[in-house]
Amino acid sequence: MNRLAKVLFLLVFGILATGVVAQESQKIKGPDERYNVDILVVVAHPDDEGAVTPYLARAIYDLHKTVAVVFGTRGGSGGNDYRREHGPAMADVREVEARQACAKLGIDKVWFLGGKDTASQNVLNSLANWGHGQSLEELVRIVRLTRPEIIITWLPGIFIGENHGDHQAAGVLTTEAFDLANDPTAFPAQLAAASKRLEPYLENLTQWQPKKIYYFSDANDQKQFAGHGFAYSVREVSPSQKKPYWLLAMRAAQPHLTQFPEEIHRWASLDDEAIQKAMSDSSHLWWSEPETLIFGKAARVSGVGVRVRETDDPFADAVALPQNPQAIEDLPLSSGPTKTSVRIGGPWEFYDAFRIKHGLWQLPVAPGPEIAVKPGSVLAIPIHVLRPILVPAMFNLTVDLPAGWKATTGTGQYSVERGTDSQFRVEIQIPEL
Ligand SMILES: [Zn+2]
Repeated sequence: MNRLAKVLFLLVFGILATGVVAQESQKIKGPDERYNVDILVVVAHPDDEGAVTPYLARAIYDLHKTVAVVFGTRGGSGGNDYRREHGPAMADVREVEARQACAKLGIDKVWFLGGKDTASQNVLNSLANWGHGQSLEELVRIVRLTRPEIIITWLPGIFIGENHGDHQAAGVLTTEAFDLANDPTAFPAQLAAASKRLEPYLENLTQWQPKKIYYFSDANDQKQFAGHGFAYSVREVSPSQKKPYWLLAMRAAQPHLTQFPEEIHRWASLDDEAIQKAMSDSSHLWWSEPETLIFGKAARVSGVGVRVRETDDPFADAVALPQNPQAIEDLPLSSGPTKTSVRIGGPWEFYDAFRIKHGLWQLPVAPGPEIAVKPGSVLAIPIHVLRPILVPAMFNLTVDLPAGWKATTGTGQYSVERGTDSQFRVEIQIPEL
């Protein structure tokens, strides 16, 4: 373009631009605010939401917060303790039970990711069986649609207890979604504007960064999480409802008849006063007192590391605190080994890398690898031999076991070629106790 043409172009463009201003401006539609929520809860199964319903009752009734719930599966496996339906038919029933339970707390935004119940303690089994990529895409979509301030989900980690792989999968996917929903390169078709009026593919959502992520755990020992997050009392009486939060949560669980019908019938027949009397002994309560919302992390704001005191109220504003260099120094090394190194692999190794990747420096971790085992079962311990860069490796694997426990496979001599990774497992027969 020569100089004259450029001037003419600018002139014409200037006139056109003025022309647009002179006309009535086009209205660009914003996000659908009916779907905005303050809290997004992501769990694995119908009835899992019950782990945090005392907190949700507090947030909904007395803090006037809005909530949406996502279930990973529709709960098609396990027993039906109420009627005859099983499998896919029971999933149809449990989806409705979950929606009704949420509705009791006024939660009407409920979605299901389409994962399948996976009975194992290994999160990798669940992620594979759910369809990791598709579930993540769907969850990022829901975060961008609901634009939550805080997210609450299952703890991604291994602790003695139920340690359900599906629970952990919900925690892994949600942590990933927390980090991806604001990334314009993650699932970009969700963010792309419509290319035509009847757009069937591009979704026109907006990027979104939730402020904080919290976890809850199915570990047997809940006391180990004290001080690692926001503690709240389930016995506190709701000022607006005049009932303790645990009672509101218990009433909300009433639709889950396929899971614990006898208990539900027993306390459904009691009035509030009788049920409070029966629950005055805390050993009968379903929840710990206090409960802890385990702090995961707060989002980075404008490139600056913002640290929040982990025990703060979830809705307290993030306070900029100096980074704790100690926390960074304590990180395990992630670079490849120069000599052979042997470690426990599988989900344990995955979580070591996952915590680093997602900056979960403050997340509680068991002091050593731990898992609950069933008498008479076989425990498989995944072993990962990391590539010895310089030389081939020979090693001898032995195990120390309690009396009566027996290693059936996986011990003995191994040779690993230079530059290769090897994974195998040691199987241990647990005695009947
Ligand atoms: Zn569950």
